[in-house]
Amino acid sequence: MLDFNNTEVAFASKSNNDLRNAYILFSTMASPALVKGAKGITNFAVGAGLPLSWAVKPTLYRQFVGGETLAEASATTASLFRNNVSSVLDYSAEGGKELSDVERTYAEVMRSIDNAKGKEEIAFTVFKPTGLVVGHILERAVAAKDSLSDIEKTEMDNFRTRFFALCRRAYENNVRILVDAEHYEYQEIIDKLTEEAMESFNRERVIVFHTLQMYRHDRIAYLKYLHAEAKEKGYRAGIKFVRGAYMEEERERARRMGYLSPICATKEDTDRSYDDGLRYVVANIDDMELFSGTHNYESNYLLANLITEKGLQKSDKRIWFSQLYGMSDNITYALAGEGYNVCKYIPYAPVKEVLPYLLRRAEENTSMAGQTGRELTLIKTEMARRNMRLL
Ligand SMILES: Cc1cc2nc3c(=O)[nH]c(=O)nc-3n(C[C@H](O)[C@H](O)[C@H](O)COP(=O)(O)OP(=O)(O)OC[C@H]3O[C@@H](n4cnc5c(N)ncnc54)[C@H](O)[C@@H]3O)c2cc1C
Repeated sequence: MLDFNNTEVAFASKSNNDLRNAYILFSTMASPALVKGAKGITNFAVGAGLPLSWAVKPTLYRQFVGGETLAEASATTASLFRNNVSSVLDYSAEGGKELSDVERTYAEVMRSIDNAKGKEEIAFTVFKPTGLVVGHILERAVAAKDSLSDIEKTEMDNFRTRFFALCRRAYENNVRILVDAEHYEYQEIIDKLTEEAMESFNRERVIVFHTLQMYRHDRIAYLKYLHAEAKEKGYRAGIKFVRGAYMEEERERARRMGYLSPICATKEDTDRSYDDGLRYVVANIDDMELFSGTHNYESNYLLANLITEKGLQKSDKRIWFSQLYGMSDNITYALAGEGYNVCKYIPYAPVKEVLPYLLRRAEENTSMAGQTGRELTLIKTEMARRNMRLL
C-alpha cells in the first residue's frame, strides 16, 4: 500500500551524514531571518568575487544538486535507478544576461539530450526557454512586439531556432523533453512555441511536454484547448503539471501594472485546479501523456487512485510522477517501491551558476512552512529510528 510516512523506505539511500546535513539545512531554512542573512552574504560574496564553494558545496549543493557536470551527476542517477527512481538532468544555470551565456546554456542542454540517448535511467530531458535568449530581448518582444528593431527580430528568430533545434534533437534521439514554464509575461510566447513543437514532433510518440502552472486560473481552459487542438491536428499532447513557482512575483507585477492577477485567489483554488487537471488527463490518457511534478500528498495519492480507477497498470509508460532532488524523498521512494513511474528533477551546474536556483529553493522552503515542517519531521523520525543524536 502507498504510504508516504515510511521513513525507512524514504531515506534508505541516505547515510547518517546525509541525514544530519539535511537536518541542519531544513532547520536553517525554517528560519526566514537566517535565509535572508545567508542570501545577503552570498550575494555579497558573488559580487566581490569571493570563493563560496567551500561553504555551499557540502551543504545546500549536496542536498539539492546532482553535480557540476553531466559526468558527475551520473553517479547520482545511477544510485537513484538502483531504487527504481529515474532522473531528469536539469542544467540549472539561470537567465541569459549575455549572448555568451545563452550559447553556453544551449550547448549544454544539447549535450544533456545526447547524454540521455538510450539511457533507461534518464526518463526525460528538460530546458528553460528563457535560457535560450538574452533577457532584455524577450522583454522587448513582450512590450513592443510590432516595433522590434532588425537586430531584435533576428535575436527572436535565433531564440525560435534554438528552441526547435533542442526539440528536434530530442526527437532524433527518441528522448522525451520537458519545456519548463516560467514567468507569466513570457509564457504566451513559450506556449505558442511549445504548441508548434508538439505539433511537429508528437505524431508517432510523445516527445515534447508542455508545462502548465495550475496556480493560473486560466489553465484548465487552456488544457482543454490543447487537447482539442491536438486531436484536430493529429498529434498527442505531452502535459506536465506543476502548481507554479512565482506566485508572489506574479501577484506583485499584476498589482504594479494594473492587470488582473493570473493566479488563483486561494491555495484551495490552486489545489482544485491541479487535481482537476490530473482527472482530465487521466480520463483522456489515450490522447495525452502526463508528468505530474508535485510534493503535495493529496495530489500524489489522487493520481495513484486515478490510475487504479481507470484500470491502468501502475507502470503505464504514459504517466509519470516527479519530485525535486533533495525534497520529498518519502513520496518518491514510496511511489517507486509500489511500481509507479517516478523521477527526480536533478539540477546540475557549477556552484556559482546554480546559486540563484539554490537560493530560490531555500526561500521557497522558508515560505512554504508546511513543506519544511514535513521534511524536518520525517528526518527527525528517521534519525530517531536509527538511534542518531540530532547534533
Ligand atoms: C518535478 C518538478 C518540476 C517543476 N517544474 C516547474 C516549472 O517548470 N515551472 C514552475 O513554475 N515551477 C516548477 N516546479 C515548482 C512548482 O511549481 C511548485 O512551486 C512546487 O512544486 C511546490 O508546489 P507543490 O505542488 O509541490 O506543493 P504544495 O505545497 O501543495 O503547493 C505550494 C504551491 O501552491 C501554490 N500556492 C500556495 N499558496 C497559494 C495561495 N495562497 N493562492 C494560490 N496558490 C497558492 C503555489 O504555486 C505554491 O508553490 C516544479 C516542481 C517539481 C516537483
